[in-house]
Amino acid sequence: MEQGKSLTEVLGIVASEMQAHLGHGRVADYIPALAKIDPRQFGIVAASCDGQVVAAGDADMAFSVQSISKVFMLTMALEKLGGALWRRVGKEPSGSPFNSIVQLENERGIPRNPLINAGALVVTDALLARGDPAALIDGFVEFMRDRANDESVSIDSEVARSEGETGFRNASLANFLKAFGNIHSDVNDVLRVYFHQCALRLNCRQLARAGLYLAHCGVDPVSHAKVTTAQRARRINALMMTCGHYDASGDFAFRVGLPGKSGVGGGILAIAPGRASIAVWSPGLNEWGNSHVGVLALERLASLTGWSVF
Ligand code: GLN
Repeated sequence: MEQGKSLTEVLGIVASEMQAHLGHGRVADYIPALAKIDPRQFGIVAASCDGQVVAAGDADMAFSVQSISKVFMLTMALEKLGGALWRRVGKEPSGSPFNSIVQLENERGIPRNPLINAGALVVTDALLARGDPAALIDGFVEFMRDRANDESVSIDSEVARSEGETGFRNASLANFLKAFGNIHSDVNDVLRVYFHQCALRLNCRQLARAGLYLAHCGVDPVSHAKVTTAQRARRINALMMTCGHYDASGDFAFRVGLPGKSGVGGGILAIAPGRASIAVWSPGLNEWGNSHVGVLALERLASLTGWSVF
């Protein structure tokens, strides 16, 4: 830690520096229910593997996790299916926007990775396995309540409905995947689960807590729950590092040097393996759909703490 600063001091510095940047970036107005959110908000929480929780800014404001849900659904899918999942989805960065369809035709319906929309739809389908969408949504919420250690965690049904009404790109991706035989369930059931998982609401405190198992070899260091194996936790972190910010993943790795996953709700989950799980939230997005201030804040946090996987 720079000049012996405590984590509390570091987060205080980051939060005060970020004030000057608030208001930059645009909220995700392609989802009407997210268009009305005030972009001038910022929260950050670091939950450390030794049980410390440090917060600054709007740490208790709930937001839509959106694509951050892909990390948790991937964890569930790997637990259920193991390595067989990799027959249906790749492990390479796409270099394309999160909702891009262009690679799918050339690559015959095998999405590049599970953290872009096409890949996440396949992961959701793999978990659904022609089953009941409502049961999978409930199972996901239960998984997230356990991870966040908070029974109040829930889905914002207005956001899910809003995305359902306007999610034409996701519907295109799902139908295209279905045409290649890489969606097995009913397309509408898969989309329904996907829109609901994205509409989960968490605040930074809950999200940082939820990601702790990824910083601690797959085991929740507080509850001791074995969420996944150490090898899978390492691999999920590797995918977050290479694919978690879409076509800005290289830039994020360069600037922050930690595995991270963004969502268009303005949240980012970053993992400092062996040390901490960090959640940051600020709704204004940059041109790649990642939180503008969130990335800046993590860059400063990494530089002030020295946390890096490199
Ligand atoms: N629900 C959003 C979508 O599919 C998630 C995208 C994101 O957070 N990058 O468009």
